[in-house]
Amino acid sequence: MSAIDVVGAVQQERLVDLLMQLCRADSAPLRERPVFEIVWEHLVALGFHVREDDAGRRLGGEVGNIIATKPGRGAGEHWEPVMFSAHLDRVEGGVGVRPVLVNGRIQSDGSTILGADDAAGLAAIIEACRVLQETEASHAPLELVLTVGEEIGLVGASQVDMEALRSKVGFVLDAEGPVGTIIARAPTHYIIEAQFFGRAAHAGIEPERGLNAIKIAAQAVSRMDLGRIDLETTANVGYIAGGGPTNVVPERAEIRAEARSLDPEKAKRQVQNMTRAIEGAAAASGGRATWDVRLAYEGFRLDEESEPIRRAKAAARKIGRTPVVKATGGGSDANIFNAKGLPTAVLGVGFEAIHSFRESMPVEELVKLTEMVLALATSP
Ligand SMILES: [Zn+2]
Repeated sequence: MSAIDVVGAVQQERLVDLLMQLCRADSAPLRERPVFEIVWEHLVALGFHVREDDAGRRLGGEVGNIIATKPGRGAGEHWEPVMFSAHLDRVEGGVGVRPVLVNGRIQSDGSTILGADDAAGLAAIIEACRVLQETEASHAPLELVLTVGEEIGLVGASQVDMEALRSKVGFVLDAEGPVGTIIARAPTHYIIEAQFFGRAAHAGIEPERGLNAIKIAAQAVSRMDLGRIDLETTANVGYIAGGGPTNVVPERAEIRAEARSLDPEKAKRQVQNMTRAIEGAAAASGGRATWDVRLAYEGFRLDEESEPIRRAKAAARKIGRTPVVKATGGGSDANIFNAKGLPTAVLGVGFEAIHSFRESMPVEELVKLTEMVLALATSP
């Protein structure tokens, strides 16, 4: 069977049923068991060697990452293996999902998210493997890495033992944008947590003796450049807390902030600017501040000639889409895989309004995504 015929063998109805089955199964970060079990059964039935790693135990979750492998077939026996990845968890609010099919789109009934992020990735991978099995098409050795805890900081992917993988090229099915979108660059992301210390005093009787920690925190924030810093760099304060009753000058306050940039040096500089603002505001007020900077994940940059980009572009053309290679401001498991030495691109899934109750998945995109996996798996 030719590669084109294989791509055309996707069974839409079965694929839609599978996505709806996955969406109906509950999932949340580190509580992925129901989705995990469905995926596990399918992969075993498709002849994969399936194992669960120890990420669940290490992270205190219900289950670990699924690592599934299958040898190549036909001419593909001797090709380099290819890694496909999607995540098993979804953001909070994805429990008790009742998916419906309306006007060619799968969506929730409006009372929950849908969870196509990332069940659409899972469904496309499984259906593609089913088609490969049924058509007996030549395909590369397959390595599937289906992760837990993606939505809470890529924690599942961070636990994957990359030494156990043989692939030298990987694809994560988890980007916004229509199928054909190929993410080649993603930001380096830092998280800053700061504590501000003032002095408590009765606000009505002796406010002179107090030092307002909320005011110090506010001054620190007002000294920061936030929002879009430049084309590659963003910064945000996402959380502020502190104080208590209105009759007490608050002694403590805290903020949580982040800085991201496609350029790792700019990310560092932005973090410095923000910590300087914290330090400066504390010093100017006579109070004190402590802070903690943590690298959430490293960014990546794949050039046009790199294997993942070259292959993804060819695959997109093969399925009749125009490849669009671009950068993202968000992170994904690909940040971890790239940092650990496996060149990995992120593929547009076609889901819309993810992380909201309006989330939806056009059936046409779901079919195209499956074709994309097939095109990638059936060429060397
Ligand atoms: Zn996702």
